[in-house]
Amino acid sequence: MPEEKKEIELLKEKLFYARKNAAETLDADKIAAADAFCEGYKTFLNDAKTEREAVRFMVERAEAQGFVPFDRDKRYAPGSKVYFNNRGKALVLCVIGKRKLSEGIRLSAAHIDSPRLDLKPCPLYEDSDLALFKTHYYGGIKKYQWAAIPLALHGVIVKKDGTSVTVNIGEAADDPQFVVTDLLPHLAGEQMKRTLSEGIRGEELNVLVGSRPFASDEGSEKVKLHMLQILFQKYGVTEEDFLSAELEVVPAFAARDIGLDRSMIGSYGHDDRVCAYPAAQAIFAIEAPEYTAVTCLTDKEEIGSEGNTGLNSSYLKYFIADLAHANGENYHTVLRHTQCLSADVNAAFDPTFPDVAEKMNASFLNRGVVITKYTGARGKSGTSDASAEYMGKVRRMLDDNGVVWQIGELGKVDAGGGGTVAMFLAALDIDVVDLGVPVLSMHAPFEVVSKLDVYMAYCAFKAFFEDQ
Ligand code: MN
Ligand code: MN
Repeated sequence: MPEEKKEIELLKEKLFYARKNAAETLDADKIAAADAFCEGYKTFLNDAKTEREAVRFMVERAEAQGFVPFDRDKRYAPGSKVYFNNRGKALVLCVIGKRKLSEGIRLSAAHIDSPRLDLKPCPLYEDSDLALFKTHYYGGIKKYQWAAIPLALHGVIVKKDGTSVTVNIGEAADDPQFVVTDLLPHLAGEQMKRTLSEGIRGEELNVLVGSRPFASDEGSEKVKLHMLQILFQKYGVTEEDFLSAELEVVPAFAARDIGLDRSMIGSYGHDDRVCAYPAAQAIFAIEAPEYTAVTCLTDKEEIGSEGNTGLNSSYLKYFIADLAHANGENYHTVLRHTQCLSADVNAAFDPTFPDVAEKMNASFLNRGVVITKYTGARGKSGTSDASAEYMGKVRRMLDDNGVVWQIGELGKVDAGGGGTVAMFLAALDIDVVDLGVPVLSMHAPFEVVSKLDVYMAYCAFKAFFEDQ
């Protein structure tokens, strides 16, 4: 009976949790806005492959938007825009709200470091007429993915006299690039018997730097000498200056549209620029919000948030304390009432590898921004599990503002796990939940996201900051 069927459908509509595809939910204007937003995002991906470059990029944008360096002794009026640059590697952007600080801050926190290969302190050597760099990988990588792809060298060298030079080789169209070599299959019989995690070992991640010797009939290590001569001519540095350098080897390829429909973006470093960019753009888009808004772009998340530019240090807490102090308010009260979206990615369901996910609680490409209630591993260890109350608040906020969103868990129970900065924010007595973009091939040199999900992240952060 048609009547009865209708009743069932109505009841299902009322009682079932329906997962929506953003491409089928959003109107044409919103989809066009998402595509346009992602053009800016691709520029950020290409111009800011390291944490230092991301800070430089965002400080420039912030200043153009009227942000000024934070003065800890100054009391700021509502609508004031300030930023705090932590050692050139982490950035706090803040717009002062109309309400008292003690009513809490609306905080979004994303990270701008990504997995990569760092040069060792003594990196350069010559072997068999080739010059190479020794590296120590940074963050969780599948090492075999980093061989036989074009690489670029980014970073800073601080010279003995205290001056520093910025290095960026491999990005311009006519720049040379670098590569980690791999064995030919013909001779890889023994290598192919290794496990995937050992396919390329840590000490085999050696970057090819050059092959022509310094022109001289005598002497040894002439290829190494020639490379040092080139670096001296370009930057005025000697081999000893590598001791005080941070040089990062990253994939040299640029962000590209993926798919016949151009619905996705392939790039290095989506984790976590794909949240950092929307969170920054959202704070740039607000004027005089109700609550003070803060976007924190942090470093060192990929190695556990340790170090004074990571969120396990006190720099963000001190920034909030200074803000509270200048207003004659108790910063403990400010923290207690602060609400945070820990802006980080989740693993998108991959139909090629379904076994690691539990489909009912996995996130999918194009289903919008993903809320991750908890991360961690082995029985929710090493995570902040967001409360039902805070989940309820965030859920209402997203729905009320037409943000397409989904719930996501990082893989099946006991399939593995991971963490975000959420637990370090929770440790400050802040209410926090992870919200971000689902990613395919996370931590690979070339990761994939959906443009609609990127835009939904922006809409989510903006709604959060504009919350009444
Ligand atoms: Mn991340
Ligand atoms: Mn990561």
